[in-house]
Amino acid sequence: MSTKNASQIAPQKHFIGGKFVDSTSGDTFDLINPSTEAVTTVAARGNAADVDAAVAAAKSTFESGDWSRAKPSFRREVLFKAADLIEARSDEIVRLQTLEMGAPIGPDFKGPHPVVERSARNLRFFAQEQEHAGDHAFNRDDSLLTYTMSDAAGVFGLITPWNAPMMLSTWKMAPCLAYGNSAVHKPSELSSLSIHVLCEIFEEAGMPSGVYNVVLGLGKEAGVPLVEHKDVIGVSFTGSPGTARDIATRAAASLKRTSFELGGKSANIIFADADLSKAIPSAAMGIFMNVGQACIAGSRILVQSSIYDQFLEGFQKAAAAWKPGNPEERTTRIGPLVSKGQYDRVMGYINLAREEGRILFGGGRPEGLDKGFFVEPTAIVDVEPSARIAQEEVFGPVATILPFDDADDAIAIANNSSYGLAGYIWTGSQDTAHYVSHRLETGMMWINSGFDRDLRQPFGGMKNSGLGREGGNLSREFYTTTRFASFPLTPR
Ligand code: ADP
Repeated sequence: MSTKNASQIAPQKHFIGGKFVDSTSGDTFDLINPSTEAVTTVAARGNAADVDAAVAAAKSTFESGDWSRAKPSFRREVLFKAADLIEARSDEIVRLQTLEMGAPIGPDFKGPHPVVERSARNLRFFAQEQEHAGDHAFNRDDSLLTYTMSDAAGVFGLITPWNAPMMLSTWKMAPCLAYGNSAVHKPSELSSLSIHVLCEIFEEAGMPSGVYNVVLGLGKEAGVPLVEHKDVIGVSFTGSPGTARDIATRAAASLKRTSFELGGKSANIIFADADLSKAIPSAAMGIFMNVGQACIAGSRILVQSSIYDQFLEGFQKAAAAWKPGNPEERTTRIGPLVSKGQYDRVMGYINLAREEGRILFGGGRPEGLDKGFFVEPTAIVDVEPSARIAQEEVFGPVATILPFDDADDAIAIANNSSYGLAGYIWTGSQDTAHYVSHRLETGMMWINSGFDRDLRQPFGGMKNSGLGREGGNLSREFYTTTRFASFPLTPR
């Protein structure tokens, strides 16, 4: 597999106050190409001193008012320009995501890659939202006029994962920056390459230096000091529930606001009256896309008993379309898992599944791919809904398929989970769709479809899948400080 692009990647630095800088310690860590297991480059290994410098830059710019009190139209113009630049650099961003986490470049889209287009849309959406947003005025009889103000709140810590580096980062930074805040972003140590492009783009778009800062590094070394920093007002985090608990505990010491978007073990419920020609390929896409490394993956597929055998046959055929391969080739739909750690974790779950159930297909390394963290799309059957493989998040291309009898049975199996992020329902009956969607304990539900999003909707989950929602007005609430002022209309 070619590594020609990797040799062109410069060592990655922090971005603080508008400048790319090394760590104060001089330390670095390796960035590994998951397709080849070769080192692509090194990245600055941040610690508390680097976080201090980044927060100081963010705070100083915030207090200057150059961005925090700028006209909303100025912020809209800058973010729109940044969105255009993101799209203009689509090929480069996609290539970097291939190097850092193995995402396929995909077919020639004749325009920006969908992931890049969505990242640009995140910026445009919140750039417009903040310009159009208004506050409330209350005029209570003729004695009191009172109104609310929602202002930029301060410096936020944004901590992001590696599974969709650009899309998930822009999903946080768009509302954070649009509403006038400054940010210190700690991307995952596995995926900082594509984020570097954003630093250049924000500068070029005319965002004042210090509004957006990046500290690279490991969770414990760079993430913890960011969470604990006294000048950080809030932390938005996407990652695993265990890390969220650690962040919540540390953030509590300084009463920081937090927003958590965590994992899932989402049920994809397929009724006998569903259009299987759509439900089956969608079920395969829902678990195999991005090699299953998606918080909203439909990793538990619940199938009505009367069509169970028919479904298994169709699902195996549909899975064949998700053959792992070299992500630099246009025809490849899935590449490797992101890291050796992730590969070992997924293989561990597959071995567990051999004990708890039966492997219908997959379960190993794909033929011909001896290097890299590749795993075959895998399906597990004959397993109890309470088994670990049916309960725990694998974050890999592993579908657990469970039969159910009727709607109530499906609801009971689906809700028997410590997670509650997404739910998918396939049925020909409106009544069934409404009945089940009202009872599913999940933050988001998709009926006879998958992944379509309106960015005004609250994104987030119940139970261990998250705390807080982001999207539309809910992002505004999180990233602003709301106050009121009252004026007597009659003398007091
Ligand atoms: P995953 O296990 O899926 O990689 P994590 O929750 O460990 O997810 O990581 C998501 C992000 O959180 C990464 O940027 C990581 O560096 C960061 N992180 C990990 N541990 C901590 C921590 N204790 N405090 C703050 N950030 C952390």
